[in-house]
Amino acid sequence: ATPTALLVGTGRGAQLGILIKGPEVLESTRRVDTIVLDKTGTVTAGEMALESVVPAPGTDADDALAHAGAVEALSEHPIAQAVAAAAETTADPTAQTGGDGVTIGSLQAFDFTSTPGGGVEAVVRQAHSGLSPASTGLGTGSLNARRVVVGRLSLLEADGLTVPPEIHDAVAEAEQSGATAVVVGWGGAARAALVLRDAVKETSAEAVAQLRDLGLHPILLTGDSEAAARTAARAVGIDESDVIARVLPEDKADVVARLRSEGKTVAMVGDGVNDAAALAGADLGLAMGTGTDVAIEASDITLVRGDLRSAATAIQLSRDTLRVIK
Ligand code: ADP
Ligand code: MG
Repeated sequence: ATPTALLVGTGRGAQLGILIKGPEVLESTRRVDTIVLDKTGTVTAGEMALESVVPAPGTDADDALAHAGAVEALSEHPIAQAVAAAAETTADPTAQTGGDGVTIGSLQAFDFTSTPGGGVEAVVRQAHSGLSPASTGLGTGSLNARRVVVGRLSLLEADGLTVPPEIHDAVAEAEQSGATAVVVGWGGAARAALVLRDAVKETSAEAVAQLRDLGLHPILLTGDSEAAARTAARAVGIDESDVIARVLPEDKADVVARLRSEGKTVAMVGDGVNDAAALAGADLGLAMGTGTDVAIEASDITLVRGDLRSAATAIQLSRDTLRVIK
């Protein structure tokens, strides 16, 4: 292969919003036969909207949402952005209390931790104007301080929180309809189910058709529920038997490795921190330009426009470039 032709190929890619890390990437791009697509933020817009809040008996829905929003304002996950926005708790950088803390409305959240593919938690309490947790001397042991968890139902259960049947039912019903449901809890109990919906991107179905035309086998991979994954798959034309759901972030790379061990040449398309290991472990990693820096760094190609059709264009481009050379 002449380096000049390869450079022309990568140059053409750049014009099309396809950033190729090096000319050698074109060779692995050409050989790909299987393409694994992350769901949230890749096939879907990753812009969830909060559809409803189903409180547990005795819980006020707005209070539950306010607590969830305070925690989620500290997270960058698409679910977090939707919950924080709905709670009108868009983090105000001028209200930072220092360190990892943030004050939102009358609630202050700090001491944030996240469980990738599971959820997030932080200590939430009534804000004392202008005083950080450290300067009040109350620390996290303050009377009003609550450790609030927001995440998948199984995460709250694993944490030992009591989940009333109303919350179980709300989650099951939401997932049956293809929505995503997370639960907020504190003080030993689940307090509300938060139902969110994410739309598939307008271009995703066309992209999947183009990938099939190129002879690729598309697979949908997600940490979300089976039902939500199947709904998205149906919308874009991916077979139900090619849906792999409820996969933890660390296991996404294992799915890619398994396909490779079966003799497949695997491309992975993703956008999230949770996709980074799978992107790095694939024969070809493609990151959505709209995604996280971690995903972009782990990938061979960046799809600047965040449009899945660019993945098909990249593969077509590599084939055209190498055909010219050979
Ligand atoms: P995907 O593979 O579709 O991009 P993730 O692996 O990021 O999804 O998340 C899987 C699941 O973990 C979500 O559907 C949700 O139940 C839970 N989760 C992850 N992050 C959060 C968060 N910040 N808030 C609430 N739930 C979360
Ligand atoms: Mg994603």
